[in-house]
Amino acid sequence: MTTVRRRHAGDLVDPAAVVARLREEGHTVGRTRTAILEAVRAKQRAFTAEELVESLDGVHEATVYRTLALLEEIGVVRHIHLSHGPAIYERTAVSGELRHLVCETCGRHIAVPRRVFDAARRTLERDYDFVLDGSHFAIVGRCRTCVAAEGTSQEGS
Ligand SMILES: [Zn+2]
Ligand SMILES: [Zn+2]
Repeated sequence: MTTVRRRHAGDLVDPAAVVARLREEGHTVGRTRTAILEAVRAKQRAFTAEELVESLDGVHEATVYRTLALLEEIGVVRHIHLSHGPAIYERTAVSGELRHLVCETCGRHIAVPRRVFDAARRTLERDYDFVLDGSHFAIVGRCRTCVAAEGTSQEGS
């Protein structure tokens, strides 16, 4: 079975293709942006802009934020809100297949395969005329550790 998807720059493994795409859109790509791009490509998991800044030596925070916004515009990364804190970024090459859970007590973040929600998605669409899109916000709950810690002080709800 072949799946036809919209071609995203994020799916292009070749960083030169991403650079070419940025130039096509009229952006200059110098050494700093190339370094940021490399750092993004090295991320196997979701990251905050702050973490990206830390992994880049001497690159100004504002430049990192601006470049992330650009990369989001051309579809290389996308952002997800875990809670009230800063958003996390993820390469779109992986974000289509992942959904995010966050513990509202300790802030623990868990990435799970999108298919975990297949049954819920089908039910919502069929019975409630609602198309679930969990790609922009994390699903909030409590991790096992926090539930267990609570259970020792009070009996479950
Ligand atoms: Zn927790
Ligand atoms: Zn948002």
